[in-house]
Amino acid sequence: MNKIRVMDTSLSNQIAAGEVIERPASVVKELVENSIDAKAKTINVIIKEAGRTLIIVEDDGVGMTKDDAKLAFARHATSKLFSTFDLFRINSLGFRGEALPSISSIANVTLLTSTGDKVGTKIIVNNDKLDVSNAPIRKGTVIEVSQLFYNTPARLKYLKNDYVETAAVVEVVSKLAMAHTDIAFSLTVDDKTKLTTTGRGNLKETIMNIYGVFTASNLIDFNYKTPDYEITGFLGKNEIAKANRYSIITNLNGRNVYMNKVVKAIIEAYSDFIPPSRFPFVVLDLKIEPSLLDVNVHPSKREVRFSKETNLINDLLNEIPKILRQTDLIYNSTSNEDTYVGTPPSINVEKIDLLEIQDNQVAKESFHLSDSVKDSILSINEEFVEPEQAKPSHKIRAVAQLNLTYLVCEDGEGGMFLIDQHAAAERINYENFQKTLNSNYHLKRPLFPLILEYSLSDASLITDEKLMLLKTVGLTIQRFGNSSFRVEEVPLWTDEYDEKIYVTDLIEQVLTTNTIDQKLIRKHAVATFACKASIKANKRLNIYEMQGLIDQLLACDNPYTCPHGRPTIVTFNKYQLEKLFKRTGV
Ligand code: ADP
Ligand code: MG
Repeated sequence: MNKIRVMDTSLSNQIAAGEVIERPASVVKELVENSIDAKAKTINVIIKEAGRTLIIVEDDGVGMTKDDAKLAFARHATSKLFSTFDLFRINSLGFRGEALPSISSIANVTLLTSTGDKVGTKIIVNNDKLDVSNAPIRKGTVIEVSQLFYNTPARLKYLKNDYVETAAVVEVVSKLAMAHTDIAFSLTVDDKTKLTTTGRGNLKETIMNIYGVFTASNLIDFNYKTPDYEITGFLGKNEIAKANRYSIITNLNGRNVYMNKVVKAIIEAYSDFIPPSRFPFVVLDLKIEPSLLDVNVHPSKREVRFSKETNLINDLLNEIPKILRQTDLIYNSTSNEDTYVGTPPSINVEKIDLLEIQDNQVAKESFHLSDSVKDSILSINEEFVEPEQAKPSHKIRAVAQLNLTYLVCEDGEGGMFLIDQHAAAERINYENFQKTLNSNYHLKRPLFPLILEYSLSDASLITDEKLMLLKTVGLTIQRFGNSSFRVEEVPLWTDEYDEKIYVTDLIEQVLTTNTIDQKLIRKHAVATFACKASIKANKRLNIYEMQGLIDQLLACDNPYTCPHGRPTIVTFNKYQLEKLFKRTGV
């Protein structure tokens, strides 16, 4: 008995579909790429229930004749590739002739198409059979895909929830729109318009259409040209930095291609200009002479090798920092939105302390110590201590700083105190940190207006439920336009350096895991306080800053030791000082 048999067409198509079509977004990608290849000027994408029940892609491209339309559903039928030589000079997106047969093997497909001169064609695909008829339709093509994966339940089960799948569709359309700025795209999800681009050939405008005004107004032009390649596009400023690398978008010869090494180079080029664990928003168009490219014919059509890649990488590593360096200065001095910049604005924390001190006239006043404080202040050397005389007096004020490390203080009654500024800062930070972990957050308005802009795909994931979840950890966030959010309240402990990062990281976490992990808050809290602490170590402080530190230290529940148990304050009372100088009769 023969064991080897030729697979039937529908099975082999389903297998091919397995490679190419993972989720609704893959269908959208294949169909939109076909529309792009057909030279469409307008492409409308409509999905229902994240594309599970319906996907429609409508274009005003060249259309197909009846015969071509029938052929389009045959495996390896393509109008785009006629020799292997063409594989290396691919200008069109699809080239394997697999998408339409694959899709129609796992969904119900209806095609309407016309080249504009004769009556159009309608094809309903039924298993392997094509039901062909005439149909009135203007020039262009409409492909309707319904009940995706109806016959492959495993795939269907594997799909994520509607938000995630919708987001993937939005991402596909967004990326294709950015690679084809001369095409007007629209995406409608469950009868609501999610995205429209104007298609006027302007990348910045397209970015604005997709990501919003704030993103578009924080872009730096980037242009670089060699005989072998040309790079154009935009480098995002820090304000629009992201928590992941997905906003580094690379287009190669009009195709959205993820180029791993290029993305890595961009991240590295930004490393001096962006806070750690942030990723830049970058959209770059690379035009590379096709003969220098080696396109690996993988179903996802993603891997491209480029013989001058090392040069390209080096150019990016050199040119991007150059541009950022030039821009950074202007940006720092003019932007009032820069809630955080490349190098942490460490001075701000102290500035605030200083202002508060001046405003409150605190520096001019002295500090009163409670009895318990007096009792617990450590003495420099137990030998010297005579308990009844070792207590500090009521007031401690800063006098000077020693070795950029110790604050010399007096109490107005002849006693002297030395405070280890670093240990003191650690104590202050530690106690703030403890308070942070309390579930009762003290809230404040962000120091700077905090607007977060997301791509429409990300924004669609930020549901009211998720906003409620964020509220439980002290983040009050309001919708603000289509894809923007305004942060109304943040926990008191955040500082202006941290706020945006904190908020965006929490949102990211809620989006990806649907929960809020206290560890993330802890991480931020520690980082925030550690940052503040480092400011206080080995740093010259002016008298107001010293006083501020003392003030905060004495307000702590336990001001006398750092969290590691080392003393924060040592004291020489009047008696001890006199003893040291043999002024007493001892
Ligand atoms: P490929 O894109 O790899 O050629 P597809 O299965 O995606 O394979 O499409 C098969 C053929 O159908 C294409 O080569 C093209 O000639 C035709 N086609 C598909 N979609 C369209 C469209 N929207 N407009 C015009 N022609 C199309
Ligand atoms: Mg195709």
